[in-house]
Amino acid sequence: MTINDIDTIAVLGAGTMGHGIAQVASLSGYQVRLRDINEDLVQNGYDQIDSSLAKMADREYITEADADAARDRIDPVVPVEDAVSDADVVIEAVPEDMDIKEAVYTEVDEYAPEQAIYGTNTSSLSITDLSELTDRPGQFCGMHFFNPPTRMDLVEVIRGAHTDDEILDTVEALAEDLGKTPVRVQKDSPGFIVNRILIPMLNEAAWLVEEGVATVEEVDSTATASIGLPMGAFELSDTIGNDVTLHIMDYLHEVLGDAYEPAPLLETAVDDDRLGRKTGEGFYDYDDGTDYEGAPVSTEVEHHLLGVMANETANLLADDVATIEAIDQAMQLGAGFPEGAVTLADAAGLETLVETLDAAYEESGAERYNVADYLRTAADAGGFTDR
Ligand code: NAD
Repeated sequence: MTINDIDTIAVLGAGTMGHGIAQVASLSGYQVRLRDINEDLVQNGYDQIDSSLAKMADREYITEADADAARDRIDPVVPVEDAVSDADVVIEAVPEDMDIKEAVYTEVDEYAPEQAIYGTNTSSLSITDLSELTDRPGQFCGMHFFNPPTRMDLVEVIRGAHTDDEILDTVEALAEDLGKTPVRVQKDSPGFIVNRILIPMLNEAAWLVEEGVATVEEVDSTATASIGLPMGAFELSDTIGNDVTLHIMDYLHEVLGDAYEPAPLLETAVDDDRLGRKTGEGFYDYDDGTDYEGAPVSTEVEHHLLGVMANETANLLADDVATIEAIDQAMQLGAGFPEGAVTLADAAGLETLVETLDAAYEESGAERYNVADYLRTAADAGGFTDR
């Protein structure tokens, strides 16, 4: 199937991601079937799209006629058959739970046209494992939008072990047609690109505070003022949702081992229901807002945060998960970094980052500081880009 064959997109799940993806697809001219498990949920997703389109028209980003046409192209439905029986592409955005996804794919297989492409929006589950739940692993890939899909430009397009190249090309062309920038993830690898680099850095921030190296405010001041990130690590985790950060960290820990052990500080925040902006309190209290601007910066913190990211970057490059260009583009678009992870690490000096990690490893014995061979070789060569 090529991009020209795609008219109708089924979006399964009308929650946070699903309704946003449906809105993006309808605004780009596609017929959309938005599906959830009952009338109230699917209507709630539709209502959110409706009010978002109204706001866009009010602000004159689109005309009233465009908004109405986009509304008309969306069909909120409950029966799976109605959602997928004429779908060219099925985008799955149901909860991050293997059993739920398995039940969904079993039902979808029954009704979707033979040639329909499946894209999963999973944040962390294995694309290969998911594809094997379906009767068409060759037509299955990751299509990982970022939150909110209406505003975030990046779509990671992830190859599972069985995905046909032609499907990846078509899904990338579709992402472009939706006004997004696709970045190819060549291999199904835990956390793909952005979450694999970003989330361990947020976890490292929590370890640094846990171990008394710096305060929350000092870490965030360093992340913004010294590294140039758009917001501090704790503010970012509060924005993503500390439960989401912890969930991804737990997953990385489970599949990749001790180097990904979640920091107790993060676990406690989640246990105490301090999930971040969405609960009004996380590492900051959002009645008062954040207050780290002007807090002292720390070179040690800077090198720890960059070092942990450099190690993850090295892991991705060593495994051929993505190219340097793809990694940098993904981090800029998906995490708002001023420069990509490769460029930031090279600018800081890989040798310095390796020294920091080695010293931390010697002192603490913590596996997260165990320097990847690829990073050591790149440091010896003078940088990732010179390796
Ligand atoms: P959500 O809980 O907001 O929405 C999921 C929706 O799916 C709910 O409305 C639920 O009722 C519905 N659902 C459950 N079973 C269903 C079924 N059988 N058929 C159709 N719908 C069903 O979750 P979300 O945050 O939108 O996440 C969806 C997926 O996107 C997950 O895999 C998640 O990992 C991924 N994701 C989330 C984010 C994020 O920031 N929220 C970002 C990127 C990817």
